[in-house]
Amino acid sequence: MIIKQRKKPKELLILESLVNRTKDIPKNYYLRYLNLLKGFEGEQKFDQWFDQDSSENWLQLNDLTFEVNNSIFQIDALIITSNQLFLFEVKNYEGDYKVESNRWFTLAGKEIQNPLLQLQKTETLLRQLLQQHNIHLNICPYLIFIHHEFQLFNNSIDAPIIFASQLNRFMKNFQQEHSKRVASNSSFIQKLLALHLEDPPQHRELEYHYDKLNKGVLCKKCQSLNTQIDGRTIYCFECCYKEPKDLALKRTVNEYRLLFPDNPLLTNTLLNWCQVICSRKTLLRLLKKDYKLTGHGKSAKFI
Ligand SMILES: [Zn+2]
Repeated sequence: MIIKQRKKPKELLILESLVNRTKDIPKNYYLRYLNLLKGFEGEQKFDQWFDQDSSENWLQLNDLTFEVNNSIFQIDALIITSNQLFLFEVKNYEGDYKVESNRWFTLAGKEIQNPLLQLQKTETLLRQLLQQHNIHLNICPYLIFIHHEFQLFNNSIDAPIIFASQLNRFMKNFQQEHSKRVASNSSFIQKLLALHLEDPPQHRELEYHYDKLNKGVLCKKCQSLNTQIDGRTIYCFECCYKEPKDLALKRTVNEYRLLFPDNPLLTNTLLNWCQVICSRKTLLRLLKKDYKLTGHGKSAKFI
């Protein structure tokens, strides 16, 4: 049973917006976007696989960020059973890889970070965190390769790795070994949830400027900016998708807040940002539902 859902990472949301609103996105930003997107898709696949029966014999906490001894670390998924804690690091790699003296390479010879070392590091930090909070549970770490077209050569058979072709067998054993129901209200689970950092400081500073971004409402379905107001909906000329106007505008204002969290919500800026709105009245009515208006005229802003 999932008790903490996975959310799209903030960095991915920002990059998604930049990719859709910038004509010539820098190559490193685009590659980072593709990388994060692929990772997120792999994690979603993992969530579906693990929660296929919504079993109450274990609890699944996804996407956790903790801080211990000045180190911030992230966990893809924690599965809590009646007597163990399973730590999963999910990789959505595709293609052929090889291991040589503990170093990982693509078959073409490009070295990548050793994901087992990353798993070990996360396990150590998690153990320290649990000790600090007097939680005594055995940790079982696993590296999951969720993509069916991933192949690893020369790896040790003792490594804590589960490949896509082993997922069904792993789950069958897991279900047999963990047949006791777990209480979701136990104090240590509440403690873990309370320790999770909802908005951790970002490691990478992305650079972008308001003036350089294309304005308008992105289609919810195909992310095109080729949209226009059509009565009570926003219509996409690319994929013909229609979304209720209020929802689309709210989404677009939220996107502005995500990109420019320190900027005040000025009515004029938002009118410019959303573009498709012909009436100031519509925007004001909508914003008043979620924000408080302060000031008058040009200095009027929502908080
Ligand atoms: Zn569309």
